[in-house]
Amino acid sequence: MVELSDSVRYIKGVGEQRENLLIKIGITKSEDLLFYFPYRYEDRRTPTKISSLRVNKVGEKSLIIARVAAVEKRSTNRKKFTVTSALICDEEGNTAQAVWFNIPNLEKTLTPGKLVSLYGKVEFRGLWQITSPELEVLDDESDANLGIMPVYPTTSGLSQKMLRRIINSAIEAVLPKLSDFIPENIRKNISLAQAIETLHHPSDRSVWAEARKRLVFDEFFLLQVGFGLRKRMIESKAAPNIIPGGKFNSFLASLSFSLTAAQSRVLNEIVDDIKKVHPMNRLLQGDVGSGKTVIAAAALCAALDSGKQGALMVPTEILAQQHYARLSKMLPNVAILSRSLNTQERKSVIEGLKTGEIKIVIGTHALLSENVEFSSLGLVIVDEQHRFGVLQKQSLISKGFPLMHPHVLVMTATPIPRTLTLSVYGDLSVSVIDELPPGRQPVETRAVSNSKLANVLQFVKKGARLGRQIYWVCPLIEDSENIDIASAVNRCDELRNCLGLRTELMHGRLNGNMKNSIMQEFESGNIDLLVSTSVIEVGVDVPNASIMVIEGADRFGLSQLHQLRGRIGRGAEKGWCILVSNPKTPEGGERIEAMTQTADGFKIAEIDLKLRGPGEVCGIRQHGITDFRVADLIRDRKILLEARAEAEKLLDSDPELKSEPLLLKAVMERIGTALDIAGTA
Ligand code: ADP
Ligand code: MG
Repeated sequence: MVELSDSVRYIKGVGEQRENLLIKIGITKSEDLLFYFPYRYEDRRTPTKISSLRVNKVGEKSLIIARVAAVEKRSTNRKKFTVTSALICDEEGNTAQAVWFNIPNLEKTLTPGKLVSLYGKVEFRGLWQITSPELEVLDDESDANLGIMPVYPTTSGLSQKMLRRIINSAIEAVLPKLSDFIPENIRKNISLAQAIETLHHPSDRSVWAEARKRLVFDEFFLLQVGFGLRKRMIESKAAPNIIPGGKFNSFLASLSFSLTAAQSRVLNEIVDDIKKVHPMNRLLQGDVGSGKTVIAAAALCAALDSGKQGALMVPTEILAQQHYARLSKMLPNVAILSRSLNTQERKSVIEGLKTGEIKIVIGTHALLSENVEFSSLGLVIVDEQHRFGVLQKQSLISKGFPLMHPHVLVMTATPIPRTLTLSVYGDLSVSVIDELPPGRQPVETRAVSNSKLANVLQFVKKGARLGRQIYWVCPLIEDSENIDIASAVNRCDELRNCLGLRTELMHGRLNGNMKNSIMQEFESGNIDLLVSTSVIEVGVDVPNASIMVIEGADRFGLSQLHQLRGRIGRGAEKGWCILVSNPKTPEGGERIEAMTQTADGFKIAEIDLKLRGPGEVCGIRQHGITDFRVADLIRDRKILLEARAEAEKLLDSDPELKSEPLLLKAVMERIGTALDIAGTA
């Protein structure tokens, strides 16, 4: 008796060697075999008569049932290379030839008179020939394995035929033991077991579609229930209530501009949340340059007003320095925690956070370090949050424990479609800044080929003469043997020599203080041309920089290009973005094309989604949340919304899933770890 949770080893046909091959394709438990679905099917419902083979069908695979008339085995000149060919004859008396290469002893199986079923590609060479077909020897016609055949992703050493057989044994042995974890009233008119069996062996397209729908729903539903549980778990915690006061108001009054309508709306949503005694858990989306930082700063002021500490975590050193420079001018008791501090400075910041003397800290991953403790952490803000993993965020948040669960705001400049938001950040409330500050002129984006570099240099020179500052972005720090593209280091030397501008180099391997001082010089206008790698991609804000040249532009991802471009067009001058490349792949070309067509981050995100798929776009591939077995986030949006609604309805009536233990178990097993809720519910 094999159980669902038993190793695949216990399934008929699996020995040690095959077990290892199965592990290679991600299958360890018997149950995994049930959910290992075909990626396509072959229609072998009706055998083709030799007389009805057609030249225009050449190259397509056909199923032929016929008798062996004669067999011949030849060795060719090449050593050990054998060809076995069989003349076959079907019941109408028409003949064709079947050919196999290097299959030992085949002639012993294929004795004349045997009835065989052959499936393979057919060609016409004076005679119909079927090459390297799958072979089955039949006792009689009714023995033939007719139907729609599943084709599974497999690995070398594990044949399609073998994998099919193993999966079929699993269906026979353990599928009956699989219980349906979807509550009865939500179940579609097809049971889980039936849906699984159908997906492996559909009898036609419509039953397949029905079964697939059920399994897609299940995947979305489990995820949405998981999000719902997580959301409710967080909402049940106690949080310090934060009431905006004097510092909050004077911060807003000190701004040289007034907030856009979208910014005001979003700030209200945040303030409403943090006033409550349960934690905020909110995502703030806004395109590059939409003004998220001001909102974050205002929220931190509110924390100060209530005597609570606030932490702002950012992905890069440069960004930390920049936020620190701004906020420390406006607020008291602000500190920075990053790798650029020396041991003494670091020690005193850590001490200050522990005693509560320091109220606001801005930092990089350094904030996650174990010895960082807070006396009363009330608000955690994570900027460019896609750069951090779920567990990293969680580890910062948990620094507010055991006293309180802090309010959490995560910010992202990668706007994504709503359905995707639901399936990636399904536990978060969402605020969107869908408006740019007034007076922004769109950045003019041009694509040019490498051969036009001289013109680009002229353009840059002219811009610099007019007082503009320039970013020049290269894909690599140093020259590489394999990649024929100028590196930042070399380009910087060349540009310095040929343009006579004040030119500096910036890249990720410089030490923190060095980066810091270069950025300060650039910001204060003492550098004209900053040659850099993509380290300036996130958040950097130097409004006077209005020209950006990106070399090897086809090597960057679309959202990365959009982020890079977001560094310019922040001031009064019109921004110019020059993409220099000779794209080597069609996708590279499409990315460049998209950049010249639109500046709308939302559209860029949709195109990116099409080109790369959701996992990459959201940077969540590693957590496995969207690694669906059947579902497709783009194609199946409607089912996602349906699953979301059903999950919410269920949790509203039964927040702890007391009446659905099987469902709870399934959620925990599949996504409990990814969502960090395993063992909590
Ligand atoms: P984001 O982080 O969303 O990319 P920032 O917060 O860096 O954007 O803001 C971009 C620039 O716009 C900054 O220089 C900021 O001072 C300015 N800014 C923000 N809000 C406004 C506003 N309402 N009106 C004018 N300028 C603004
Ligand atoms: Mg920002």
